[in-house]
Amino acid sequence: MLYSTLYRTARLLWPGGPATRRNLRQLEQNQALSKDELRAFQVAKLQRLVDYACKNVPFYHDLYRRRDIAPADIKSLADFERLPIITKQDIRANVSNMIARTAPKAGLIENHTGGSTGEPLHFFIDDSFWWENAANEFRVRGWHGVREGARMAWLWGDPRDVPDWRWKRRLRAAVMNHRFLNAFSLTEEKMRHFADMLAHWQPALIMGYATTLTLFARFLQANQMTAIRPKIIETTAEKLWQPQRELIEAVFQCPVIDHYSSREMGTMAYQCEAGTLHTLDDARHVEVIAAGRRAAPGQLGQVVVTSLNHLAMPFIRYANEDMALAGDETPCACGRPFGSVQELVGRTNDYLITAAGQFVHSEFFAYTLRARPEVFSYQVYQPDATHLDVKIVCRRPVSRAWLADIRQQIQARFGEAVDITLAVVDDIELTPAGKHRYIISDIKPDFVT
Ligand SMILES: [Zn+2]
Repeated sequence: MLYSTLYRTARLLWPGGPATRRNLRQLEQNQALSKDELRAFQVAKLQRLVDYACKNVPFYHDLYRRRDIAPADIKSLADFERLPIITKQDIRANVSNMIARTAPKAGLIENHTGGSTGEPLHFFIDDSFWWENAANEFRVRGWHGVREGARMAWLWGDPRDVPDWRWKRRLRAAVMNHRFLNAFSLTEEKMRHFADMLAHWQPALIMGYATTLTLFARFLQANQMTAIRPKIIETTAEKLWQPQRELIEAVFQCPVIDHYSSREMGTMAYQCEAGTLHTLDDARHVEVIAAGRRAAPGQLGQVVVTSLNHLAMPFIRYANEDMALAGDETPCACGRPFGSVQELVGRTNDYLITAAGQFVHSEFFAYTLRARPEVFSYQVYQPDATHLDVKIVCRRPVSRAWLADIRQQIQARFGEAVDITLAVVDDIELTPAGKHRYIISDIKPDFVT
């Protein structure tokens, strides 16, 4: 407690400290707005953003002029949501034209996505990106009583976040009260060591990939190590499945919070105490779009997101290739004015297609495979509409009949025309960013623009 108070005071002396504090104050005030006031705030911000982009960013200047769109036309969210959607391909083809003329070249920082779905996306930010996003994270963690400077344990693999041997990065992690367990090289011995340290250190928050946290929770459960009691567990970067959530909550006796964020956007949605996955509408405009229009509550669609505050290289109506079930407008029990998404369900290429062109949600394999106690992990790869390559890692030896039963279920769902390769393997490779991918498809469904 004393440490985090000292930390927050000292933080003001760091580069970006006062800016982060100002941002946090503004964001916290916004939570007290009514829904109508929040909407007015959003529309004003989006108007300014479009106006700024037209004046300063050649890509948007040309795109909107070609379509005869003027910033003055944006008078409501509905007007804004008629602007063209931009894709990763658009960004790749236009990077230099998407950087604002006003952004000082020396202050630009190149960043890229982890490329868990293949090709990484390169883009530019400036320091204000960190200061805005840090404030956004402090705000949402504050919903659960976790304040800036609180103890935080990471089960993480991305080398960009894990402190390496350089003393500056190690010092920074120590001052920030962060401790790490590298999710890339988990062994029983390392987990035991980390668990002992955590039981003593008692972090307020533990964050990590859903799969890594599940593995760690299983390890703790098997070894009856029940002394770690954080306020919340935060999972990000991977889809969190219900059985994983139940296991983690049972082991740590605290809520598991879904944090939807990405390298290019920062935090987009976060679960509140009432369990709603809130979009943070005063900082990111998140839309779920199906067949060109806003998806109905519960309907599946692609995520289209706009950051209201990132001006060095603005992303306006950016289809980030994630898929979600749209939320509804019901006011949340937490009382905050924000909207919601019901659930993030994966990426646009987490979907499979039957020989007849039908669309199969990745959840199908969660039911047919994950539900079986023998299955530890799996990966399904679809190179084209008539082939399916299924790899399963099993906890114990399985019979031919067991495999035949799985094959039969998959065949029934995908049709006789699909050629299925089914193999029990020892291990499945992680992506370069250390994530496990359950579904990989080279086919894009038609409804994705
Ligand atoms: Zn809420």
